[in-house]
Amino acid sequence: MAERVQVEEKVLSENDKLAAQIRKDLGARKILALNLVSSPGSGKTSLLEKTLSLLKDEFRIGLIAGDVQTENDAIRLERAGGKIVRPVVTGGACHLDARMVGDALQKIDLNSIDILFIENVGNLVCPSGFDLGEDMKVVLISTTEGDDKPLKYPAMFRKSSALMINKIDLLGLSDFDIDKAEKNARQINGSLHIMRLSCRTGENINLWCDWLRNQIFSKK
Ligand code: MG
Ligand code: ZN
Repeated sequence: MAERVQVEEKVLSENDKLAAQIRKDLGARKILALNLVSSPGSGKTSLLEKTLSLLKDEFRIGLIAGDVQTENDAIRLERAGGKIVRPVVTGGACHLDARMVGDALQKIDLNSIDILFIENVGNLVCPSGFDLGEDMKVVLISTTEGDDKPLKYPAMFRKSSALMINKIDLLGLSDFDIDKAEKNARQINGSLHIMRLSCRTGENINLWCDWLRNQIFSKK
């Protein structure tokens, strides 16, 4: 057991070194890098599709789409107007690590983007432990999940800077209590910036776009 812990610590410190290098490379070019994390089905790809449709003429957007087995999300993002989309198929691994992101970045001209979105594998557990060199993690939950997600997966909510509560168009169709979800999230991380929206209908999507603009301008 002790041996396994040691191996895991070594893997993590390797990851942290690579992540630091990625952060340095992106920072030197003032690229805003966001790591999107959530359970499967919360709407990471939908959020990115909506973002592309609204902001692709305003910012140069690069996307890394992580998936366990398919390139389906990358294909969706290209269809939504993404010009610089790099799929990462983890081949079973349930999270992205800094090496995978570093490899994908080799295929992106960093002088050609203002924002890098990294869509992580749908999983609220181990992606919280892997720094990818991002500026911030953005965590999504949706109204079709339990409102106790923040309490069940505290590490992810603690390490995130913003929380998107997606699918507000479906509020009332399940037992999801949005105020309770927000309260639970704030209990874990009082400084979370919380946005309630629907990627499907576009309701409140302006909150996300404005927040993104603020993040980009504060990097310049
Ligand atoms: Mg997806
Ligand atoms: Zn994992």
